[in-house]
Amino acid sequence: MNVEAVKKQFPIFNKANPAGNELIYLDNAATTQKPQVVIDAIADYYAGYNSNVGRGSYWPATAATIAFKEARNTVQDFINARTHKECIFTSGTTDAINKVANNYLIPNLTSADSVIVTEMEHHGNFVPWQQACLSSGAKLKVIPLRDNGDLDYEAYEQLLDDSVRMVAVTAISNALGTKNDLKRIVEAARAFNTAVLIDAAQLVTHEKIDVQQLDCDFLVFSGHKLFGPTGIGVLYGKEDLLEGIPPLSYGGGMVKQVTVEETIFADLPEKHEGGTSNIAGVIGLGAAICFVNKLGLTAIHEHTKSLTDYTLVKLGDLDGVRILGLPDERASVISLAVEKVHPHDVASFLSERGIAIRAGHHCTHPLMKRLGVQGTCRVSFGIYNKPEEVDMLIEGLIEVRDFFA
Ligand code: PMP
Repeated sequence: MNVEAVKKQFPIFNKANPAGNELIYLDNAATTQKPQVVIDAIADYYAGYNSNVGRGSYWPATAATIAFKEARNTVQDFINARTHKECIFTSGTTDAINKVANNYLIPNLTSADSVIVTEMEHHGNFVPWQQACLSSGAKLKVIPLRDNGDLDYEAYEQLLDDSVRMVAVTAISNALGTKNDLKRIVEAARAFNTAVLIDAAQLVTHEKIDVQQLDCDFLVFSGHKLFGPTGIGVLYGKEDLLEGIPPLSYGGGMVKQVTVEETIFADLPEKHEGGTSNIAGVIGLGAAICFVNKLGLTAIHEHTKSLTDYTLVKLGDLDGVRILGLPDERASVISLAVEKVHPHDVASFLSERGIAIRAGHHCTHPLMKRLGVQGTCRVSFGIYNKPEEVDMLIEGLIEVRDFFA
């Protein structure tokens, strides 16, 4: 992959940052930068055929409706869903998880039930399940982590029993980079007829998702971590499950007929998309997936993996810098600590050199507690990062370590 050529497609990198140096963006786990094709797709919609979808008979409405449907088909192909009906647009990962918790789980959850999550979850895939349990009296069971940051699969298998209604697990830890064994997780849950939701927020840019092969019940992700816009995400659900739950939101666009007495709901997927959708977001997400498909997920994965491997070697040689979590399999996310320096000081120091990393708890308080830290410095790679940028990061870490020594 020609990284320079790819990087040129992202206008943000053509801007000098306030300090006058090049932006070295190593916070891709928080959100990815946007290529010109995605920005253009959104601008073209607003400037060229802005209209609501599904209802108008005039030409911009027809064009918008076609683009909207095409984007849904693109999503379907991208995750290999059986049908477009299984792909519901939401405002993001968090929204999708809340919708599953509120509409699928909670209505039937009792104090005899339980829900399994992991100790490494982002709050977005933790708090909704925790609150569901608190409001129903169900038990929240948490799969612990091994010291290297891997899930303790034996502990998971022991937590599974007939009371479990949902296993909600991230594919990749947004803080440690741990890649979870989804096949093992789903297979074990199947033996107890338990639903499984996969938080694919970090997985989407890393490898090809095949929901049929995974055999998960729900899978969720956000557009903005996939070079797409904010405010748009996807809830994949098996057709019979999405059929079986009440509409995720009531309103216009999700009905066949309304009388004073009753409402007949639309078929999937519209049934779950009450109100005007984030049309520009959907079109932008479609463009982002086409962009990713063109580059090839394998090429993206290989590139970010080689940067990660390179960084791990370099960090391993660095006195005073500790890598947090050395999982067996990881994605391109690394948490680290610089001895005696607060993560925010590290991030501020690097920022003056144009290097953008993330410092803090990464919305994973239970994980931070497990690690015994307040926060970490997190480095996460994208397709536009280069080995030279890793070298600059390492130089910056040496400087900050020595400055505070
Ligand atoms: N889960 C994981 C693993 C994440 O990394 C994130 C975003 N950091 C979320 C959930 C929440 O995503 P969003 O804020 O886009 O809803």
